[in-house]
Formats: sequence, C-alpha cells, structure tokens
Amino acid sequence: MANIVAIVGRPNVGKSTFFNRLTEQRQAIMDNQPGVTRDRHYGYAEWTDKRFTVIDTGGYVVGSEDVFEGAIREQVEIAIEEATVVLFMVDSMTGLTGLDQDFANILRRSKKPVFVVANKAETADRMQASAEFYALGLGDPYPISSQTGTGTGDLLDEVIKHFQTEDPEDPNAGVPRIAIIGRPNVGKSSFLNVLLGKERSIVTDIAGTTRDAIDTRYKAFGKDFILTDTAGLRRKARVNDNIEFYSILRTLKAMEASDICIAMLDATRGLEAQDLNIIGQAVKAKKGVVLMVNKWDAVEKDHKTADIWRKEMVRRLAPIDYLPILFASVHEKQRIFQVMEKAMEVYENKHKKITTSKLNEVMQPEIEKYPPPATKGKHIKIKYMIQLPTPSPTFVFFCNLPQYIKEPYERYLENKLREHFGFDGVPITIFFRQK
Ligand code: GDP
Ligand code: GDP
Repeated sequence: MANIVAIVGRPNVGKSTFFNRLTEQRQAIMDNQPGVTRDRHYGYAEWTDKRFTVIDTGGYVVGSEDVFEGAIREQVEIAIEEATVVLFMVDSMTGLTGLDQDFANILRRSKKPVFVVANKAETADRMQASAEFYALGLGDPYPISSQTGTGTGDLLDEVIKHFQTEDPEDPNAGVPRIAIIGRPNVGKSSFLNVLLGKERSIVTDIAGTTRDAIDTRYKAFGKDFILTDTAGLRRKARVNDNIEFYSILRTLKAMEASDICIAMLDATRGLEAQDLNIIGQAVKAKKGVVLMVNKWDAVEKDHKTADIWRKEMVRRLAPIDYLPILFASVHEKQRIFQVMEKAMEVYENKHKKITTSKLNEVMQPEIEKYPPPATKGKHIKIKYMIQLPTPSPTFVFFCNLPQYIKEPYERYLENKLREHFGFDGVPITIFFRQK
C-alpha cells in the first residue's frame, strides 16, 4: 500500500525539523553507508504498526518568504493529487500570515485529507494561540512542537486513520506487482515499449479503486503481472524544480505499491548517489529488488567488464549484497526477458515459506558451528527459530538473552539463511525474542 504523507507550508515554519523527527531513527542505518547522501527529502516513518513515506516538499521548491509563486502553487497541487495525507504546517510563533492564506486557498479544494499543523507550540500560550489557524477553513489545527515532540502523537494517531489498507477481496491478490524505477533518461519508457509493445494486452485498468489508479495489469512474455505507475497517467510539471519533486513522489508511490522493483541504471553513467538512495529506500520498504543496468550496448567492454561492474556495484551498495544484477540493452532487446524472469523469481523468493522443522534442521548445526559469542560473561543460547507469515521473509530466533546478540552475529545468521534457502533479491528481517 502506498501511504505517502507530504508536508507543505511556507518557508521556516519547521517542515524539515518535523521531517527529521519523523524519519530520524530509521534513517540512521542507511545514512551511515558511504555513497548515500544526507541530502534527501523523503524517508520512512513509523507510527504504532503503520509504516509510511514522508516527503518534505520544502526540500524541492523553496520559494520565498513573502511571495506565493507559481512554482509553489503547482507543488501544492501535485501534493494534493499524489499524497495520501497532506500536512499543512504553519507557525504558532508568528501566527497567521498572508502566505498561509495562499496555501489554504488551494488546499481547501483538496479531496485528500489535509491537517493544519501549528508548529512551535511548545508553550501553553502558543498552544492556545494556534486556535487562530481555524480561520484557514481547514478544520481544527493540531498544535505540535517539532523540536520537543509535543502533540505529534495525537496528530499521527489521526493521520494514520486515513491510510489505505489491503483489500481482502482484491481480485489481483497474488499477481506480482512490479515497479520500474530509476532516474529520468535511464530508459524506463523504452523498456515498457519493448516489454509491452507488440504483445501488449492490458487485462484490466485498475481505476477508481483505493489504489489511486496507478496500476495496470498486463500479460506479456507469458507472465501475468501488474505494473504500478504507468507513464501515461503522468502529468507534466511546468516548473523545473517540480519535475524532480513529482518524479520522486511518483517513484516512491509506485515503489510502495509494488512487491518487486526493477531498479534501472544507465550504464553510461554508473551507479549514482540518487540511485543508491532510491535502492536503499526500496530495501528499507522490504521490497524485492532487481538491478537492471541498461544501455549495456553503449559501453565498451570485454569479457571482464560485467564482473568488474558487478564487484564495484556490490562494494557501493554494501552491506546489501544480495540483489541480482543484469546487464541489458533495451535498444538491442538484450536480456529483457531475463529481467522479467528474474523479477518473477524474486517474487517467489519473497513469498517463500520455510517450515519450522526444515529451518531448525538446517540452522541448528550452523549455530552450533559458530554460536553467538558470550557478552559480559553471559552465555547466549539460541533455542529454536520460526519464519513469520509476513509479506516479506521475517525470522524470529528464540533465545535466552536476545539483548546481547550483536549485529555481526545477526549478519551471520542472515548469510546462512540466504546460503541455504536462496532469498536472492529480497531483504530478510531477523528478530530475537526471549524464550
Ligand atoms: P522549513 O523551512 O519549514 O523546513 O523550517 P525549518 O525546519 O528549517 O525550521 C525553521 C526554523 O524554525 C529553524 O530555526 C528551527 O530550529 C525552528 N523550529 C522548527 N521547529 C520548531 C519548534 O517546534 N519550535 C521552535 N521553537 N522552533 C522550531
Ligand atoms: P526514461 O526517462 O527512463 O523513460 O528513459 P527513455 O526510455 O525515455 O530513454 C532515454 C534515452 O535513452 C532515449 O534517448 C533512449 O533512446 C535511450 N535508451 C533507452 N534504452 C537504451 C539502450 O538500451 N541503449 C542505448 N544506447 N540507449 C537507450
């Protein structure tokens, strides 16, 4: 399900501070990796058991403090169209401004839920003062402080009520959902044309459903699948900064709605920081990922080139080393079919279930061979393990002292799971629980 929360509002109200608060903990892990830029305005957040993507619109079109420009107007329109929930942030310290009114005039036309968030309300005075934002005509304001966290829980409780949930009677349940993601000009549309060109047979256009009408079901190359996000439905952003904003928003949405992402790269440009960001986001969202290096025809190469590329990509993606990499050329129709085959294989891997007995039979000897190292003189014993019935492979290891198991040992277990059961292309989640 693609739940996207967009934060809009004039400059300096505290959008990026709030964004950081929402995404902080989850971001830390990926951001420590070399090559991943901090310069990113989207990320993962979690509230109770709900996960969602947050996007800070201020990171894309900044605008000026006192003029409502066309660029901002267009950005707000895009946010209303594409996000699940829009958070309209205002500043309870400065109070209501003309620029806030300009935003509100557009937001009032939104069919999506809009929350007025009165930030910087860490004092009782300001909390009370925030009632004035009721005049924006967008319902009761939510006083919060991005700095201290006050009020954010109440806000998020309301926000998540608007999230999309799985439809138990979805006629497309069980059909692999694929997103083709990548920066502009890597060859995504060309790929779709080759993939669906002649044999294109649209089974259904899934319109008017809660899925925001971005899905189309196809049969091609003997496979039945759904593409999340279809280029035909895209609007044309007028303003340059909005082109990037819109493209990222669509990508995040398509990615979230998918089971598998085909992450396309351009062989003439290599793996760039933006690619790493988006691949990292897909992995965090627990999506299956296939890396497709396109335009392989345009690269000068010999029999070693693919291997050198593969090694270099794995190094840059570290510690993510389990994503299949295919070198393809859409122009020369080289390995197009293999990419689709691989995507289907990864889909199977994502849904693979290992029985408890098989799991224990295979993993116990590995644990005996290399038991978790004792910490603070405490002996750690893993007793047994199970796979949970979740949409992506998740394992629980029951042990006496779960808090003492360290990251390297978790990695060891993950590697052994991959070695024995082959989870190519899919992130694995491991939990340790007390028993
Ligand atoms: P943006 O332009 O909307 O992204 O705003 P920023 O997040 O950059 O914040 C603008 C200024 O407001 C910075 O100086 C922040 O430290 C400050 N600020 C943000 N949130 C709060 C808050 O909850 N309380 C107070 N007092 N200041 C805040
Ligand atoms: P998109 O923006 O990701 O949808 O990319 P397009 O499909 O529009 O392609 C961008 C450019 O890359 C176009 O000029 C294509 O002709 C070119 N292109 C696409 N695939 C290949 C390929 O396999 N090899 C080469 N050399 N160029 C390609």
